[in-house]
Amino acid sequence: MKSEKENILESSVQYIKSVGPKRAESFSKIGINTIRDLIFYFPSRHLDRTTVLTAAKAYGYAMNGYDGEATIIAKVVDKEKRNLGRKEILKVQFRDSSGFIECVWFQGVKYFYSVFNEGDYFAISGKPEINYNKLQIVHPDFDKITEEETQSFLITGKIIPFYRIPKELKQKNIGDLSLRRIINTAIESYVDNLEETLPQEIIEQHKLIDLITAVKNYHYPESKELFEQAKRRFKFEEMFYLELLVAIKKNNYQTKLIGNKMEIKTNLVSDFIKTLPFELTHSQLNVLSEIKKDMLSEKPMNRLLQGDVGSGKTIVALISMLIAVDNGFQTALMAPTEILADQHAKNISEMINKLALVQKGKEIKVSLLLGGQKKSERNQKLSDIELQEADIIIGTHAIFEEQVKFNNLGLIVIDEQHRFGVKQRAALQSKGKTPDVLVMSATPIPRTLSMTVYGDLDFSVINEMPKNRIPIKTVLRGEKRLPEIYKFIIDKTKEGYQTFLVYPLVEESEKLDLKAATTFYEDLKENHLQNLKLGLIHGRMSWQEKEEVMLMFKDKQFDVLVSTTVIEVGIDIPDANIILINDAHRFGLSQLHQLRGRVGRSNKQAYCILITKDEIAAKQNANELELDYLSSVQLEKYKSSVRLQSMVKHLDGFKIAEIDLKLRGPGDIFGTKQSGFPELKYTNIVEDQEIILEAKQSAFKLIEVDPKLEKNFSAVIRKNLIKHYSENLSYAKIA
Ligand code: ADP
Ligand code: MG
Repeated sequence: MKSEKENILESSVQYIKSVGPKRAESFSKIGINTIRDLIFYFPSRHLDRTTVLTAAKAYGYAMNGYDGEATIIAKVVDKEKRNLGRKEILKVQFRDSSGFIECVWFQGVKYFYSVFNEGDYFAISGKPEINYNKLQIVHPDFDKITEEETQSFLITGKIIPFYRIPKELKQKNIGDLSLRRIINTAIESYVDNLEETLPQEIIEQHKLIDLITAVKNYHYPESKELFEQAKRRFKFEEMFYLELLVAIKKNNYQTKLIGNKMEIKTNLVSDFIKTLPFELTHSQLNVLSEIKKDMLSEKPMNRLLQGDVGSGKTIVALISMLIAVDNGFQTALMAPTEILADQHAKNISEMINKLALVQKGKEIKVSLLLGGQKKSERNQKLSDIELQEADIIIGTHAIFEEQVKFNNLGLIVIDEQHRFGVKQRAALQSKGKTPDVLVMSATPIPRTLSMTVYGDLDFSVINEMPKNRIPIKTVLRGEKRLPEIYKFIIDKTKEGYQTFLVYPLVEESEKLDLKAATTFYEDLKENHLQNLKLGLIHGRMSWQEKEEVMLMFKDKQFDVLVSTTVIEVGIDIPDANIILINDAHRFGLSQLHQLRGRVGRSNKQAYCILITKDEIAAKQNANELELDYLSSVQLEKYKSSVRLQSMVKHLDGFKIAEIDLKLRGPGDIFGTKQSGFPELKYTNIVEDQEIILEAKQSAFKLIEVDPKLEKNFSAVIRKNLIKHYSENLSYAKIA
């Protein structure tokens, strides 16, 4: 039921003055079909031409103590890099018709040096200051402009939009000026036809500006403040609708499905905790009480447990599993790889055996279900599961195959969640009545991102490491220093240290990979590490073979384990306290952090040695690459250096994940389609945490009050959801 006013907005762009059918075709190629599309084609940047001063005027202002910002249009006449103590600084001289101005950079010197070239014109903005009688701006904002543009600058006293002009438009002779005119015409004639897309209550509550004001100011800001408010409104709206869909989904799950209401029946759990050789951390206890609360309630649990590598998630999972067992349920633990499933089964069986010594209650049976087991063995296990002879079932995703029939599944734990897609998670919940679900992730995801990707889950975070840990020492070295590092490894081996020696996967082909691994291995054995016992693990091995090598390593039959595959996530070898990563610049940041997590799991000092060919990274002063100061162009250039130095600087997985996110962008981390991560037009998932949280709370509150969007104040939302989000609504079932 669109109103007539709104309908006009759906007409073709060709009716806008100076567009016509030909140009409309080109617009269509870049996704602009209707007048509405054109109105929502927002500028990619603005130039503030409100306070444009000549150099001479700016000098006068600065002498009189002016402390606002100004823009000066000037030409580069000279540039110079200088050493200031141990640091390099950059000074660029500009001039306009009235005088000179100098700009200074302390960060990103190399990059900015390449940006400013003699004879180029720039609009430089910042706070003009006087330094030794010279007019100066430190770290100005700037825009490179053409000589003609310098003229229009001096006339306009406004904030001017710049639109992205794809080649399809350029071909039809649409440039900055003409596109600006076309869009301006569309706004002036039709913007008032837009109907508000947020309820008045929400606009007031969150102090947002209305849609029409926001659109106008996104194009031609009346002031910087209004431009900020326009952006804020669109970010809020974008996240509000996204979170609304999440809230609807979660609400459906929680209200339509009834879970198992468990109790603490016996002292099984408290007895188990007494058998542990360590005390649980506060964080582990907190998380456990959150999980327990869910399990004891009737609502099905759907919880994400995040904790850095080595923070002790397995114990938390096991205790939760014991609560389910205590209530007569079966419980399943799914690991991403067979070797990890096997390790979990071994550790858990060991702990259950210790428990059996003090517990007189019923015997708890652990069963490991893997691919490649003998048929008779497998059948036995399947029947154990069906008859509930097995209480704790551990395996890979194979445990959720059709043939596996649980008698009474009460809790599913998924380890290393980031390896599983969102869809798989949904499929699991169809086994059993409505089992509780706990997913665990060692890739700490920044909060806003997890809120969006896993928005229908509740969160628990272990943010504390067991007390006995000593922080891992991480160093970055050029390849030339390998000989002395080998010597270090040999010395440390005498103290009982073991070492992982990792090479990146050399080739896509496993055959070549195998060859490379063997070459490294043979070479080390014959040369640098000839007196040590070396093991080899690579991608061509079956999981059983890998398992065997890992167990031998754990058994100290090797001092050094040479590996070309990334050593399995989660593997626990207490005496392996050195990890050397060759060609470290070829690994992703989270991958490096995961690898580092293989060491430092005991009370000895552990070392992570990153070896790189990346000369810049190996030499660069770490402070030069402070992420917050880098422009996107610099980021691109120094990505591998930033990755490596972030590893040296930070041990905290959350910090690392945040940096990784900045470097790669969310789309890259959660390959958009499969992860269900939505593309965002306005919101920056890293920088806009506050507004995301605000929008989320608002959306969830609304669904709590009006789950079916039937009330009056929800009418706007309902209409807008159906109109613009219909493809996302299939699961939400509100329309
Ligand atoms: P992750 O969170 O990476 O899965 P694990 O559960 O494998 O970590 O735990 C890593 C190691 O720390 C294991 O050897 C585990 O027994 C030990 N651990 C767990 N909790 C504690 C604790 N509170 N104090 C000391 N050691 C602990
Ligand atoms: Mg683990």
